[in-house]
Amino acid sequence: MERIKHLLDLQEVMSQAKRLEDEKQKIPLEAADLKKLFEEKEAEFLAADKEFQALKTQRMEKEREIEEERDKVEKAKSKLMSIKTNKEYYAMLKEIDGTRRSNTTREDELLSLLAKYEESEKLLAERKAELDDVAGKYRERMTEITARMGSFDADIENILARKGEIAAKLDKGLVSRFETIFERREGVAIASAVNCSCTACNMNISPQLFNLLQREEKIHTCPNCNRIIYFEMPVDEEAG
Ligand SMILES: [Zn+2]
Repeated sequence: MERIKHLLDLQEVMSQAKRLEDEKQKIPLEAADLKKLFEEKEAEFLAADKEFQALKTQRMEKEREIEEERDKVEKAKSKLMSIKTNKEYYAMLKEIDGTRRSNTTREDELLSLLAKYEESEKLLAERKAELDDVAGKYRERMTEITARMGSFDADIENILARKGEIAAKLDKGLVSRFETIFERREGVAIASAVNCSCTACNMNISPQLFNLLQREEKIHTCPNCNRIIYFEMPVDEEAG
């Protein structure tokens, strides 16, 4: 049956066009998701970097303070030799002792700062690796997406041209009816009927209608789903 063959061809090209349209519509969503993920990872990295830089500054300041106080002690010690009176000598010793004690506190602070610093440095490296990973994937996928977007329109145009060729072989009214069913029935406008049953909705059709399908050239539709149906030999009988 020539018409059924053309309708099946029409079904095929319209399915291809629909798949491409669906894919094309999903692409901007995918790109937006990728961008969002990249920006999240970037924000996490920047936050970790900010914390790390702050700890680095604190560490350097603390180390400088300790160094300065050590210098003071050294200078005070060398002055001890030139001191004339006991009173001055003991006053100087006391001062040295005080500086040493406050430096011990600073050194303890530096130690706890160093622990935080190392932890922060480790976290920063992890965030950097995550960001690099996501950025790499993002760039790679965006390149693919851009290339794909460029070919979509040409592909769809080709398919629509093919659709036009097929439609030209059919009655206009039938084509527009076919398109309506295609829209309303999840992109399936034509289905075979096998053993008194519509293969699209799986509902039984009457033996009278099933007989007509085998004999008539007329276009029939499934009484349940309204798709165009045509007779198809069951597979086992076909083989036999
Ligand atoms: Zn049906």
